[in-house]
Amino acid sequence: MDVKLINYFKDEIKNCSSTQKLIDFKNIFHKKHIIPLYEKLKVLPIDEKKDFGKYVNTIKNEIQKIYLQKLSEIKLVENSKKNIINYDINLNTFNLRKGCKSILTIVEEQIIGYFEKLNFKIIPGNEIVTIKNNMDQLNIDETHPIRDKKDTFYIDGQKMLRTHCTATTAEVIYNQNCETKVLSYGNVYRNDDDDMTHSHQFTQIDVVWIKKKLTINHLKTIVDGLLKYIFGNEIKTRYRLSFFPFTEPSFEVDISCCNCNGKGCQICKNSGWIEILGAGILHPNVLKKANITTIDTGIACGIGIERIVMLKYGLSDIRDIYNNDFKFIMQVKENIV
Ligand SMILES: [Zn+2]
Repeated sequence: MDVKLINYFKDEIKNCSSTQKLIDFKNIFHKKHIIPLYEKLKVLPIDEKKDFGKYVNTIKNEIQKIYLQKLSEIKLVENSKKNIINYDINLNTFNLRKGCKSILTIVEEQIIGYFEKLNFKIIPGNEIVTIKNNMDQLNIDETHPIRDKKDTFYIDGQKMLRTHCTATTAEVIYNQNCETKVLSYGNVYRNDDDDMTHSHQFTQIDVVWIKKKLTINHLKTIVDGLLKYIFGNEIKTRYRLSFFPFTEPSFEVDISCCNCNGKGCQICKNSGWIEILGAGILHPNVLKKANITTIDTGIACGIGIERIVMLKYGLSDIRDIYNNDFKFIMQVKENIV
């Protein structure tokens, strides 16, 4: 290979500052140095043609490689200059459609805000919890359905996705032999098929207050206050005895139907009441398993945020909350935020 000729080409194209100058120089170089080589090839004796042909091709290919490299460098510079020239800060901007906070976040923040004012410590907690925190510490016996592998997402023999935020509360209250006010919140998981009213993932708030001599009256004051704060002072509340493994007594709390003011309609199935949350006095076994020996009572309530959102804003499909549909978001923005 003629190194001198190639170096000459390399040195000369360094001075080419535009695509056109580079092309012009390459054409001149080709005419002056490459074409004569091909002319020489034509007249060579046949036995010398093969080697000389290879030699000419090597030079031609090397020149082409150097040329293309330089061409891409020049184009890069030219394009960046073009972009700078085309950028005009006076151009009109197009209208960006801005969304807003999710309706779920809005309600979650309202509820958390209410308990913050009552000096509860706010803890999101981990979504992966131990079976001990999710069930064993909460007096959930071996036959309870949430222990079933079909209903719960287990990770291994000791860990699982929490089925309720009470798992986080159980972890926090362990060994707390002093007054403790804690709210845990966030995603919980159950192995449900998604439909209008069910989702495999939903959002909960769990509230526990441990202190000596707490009564149902304390519980009722806090829960009634929350429900009036969310749904308005005019709503009525009703406490029905129920069963949860971690509270005794346990209550299902209903509110008077916001749609018919308690008169009876399709939403409340003509009962005038709508089930809204679960609450109760902590079961003595829960306090015992949390190693709490100096305090004899605790009150608790668990809130499904999606349920509150759906009732407050009249949604019939839980999936509307998650689907991120822009029309839905704009309705939230215009009417709620
Ligand atoms: Zn009703």
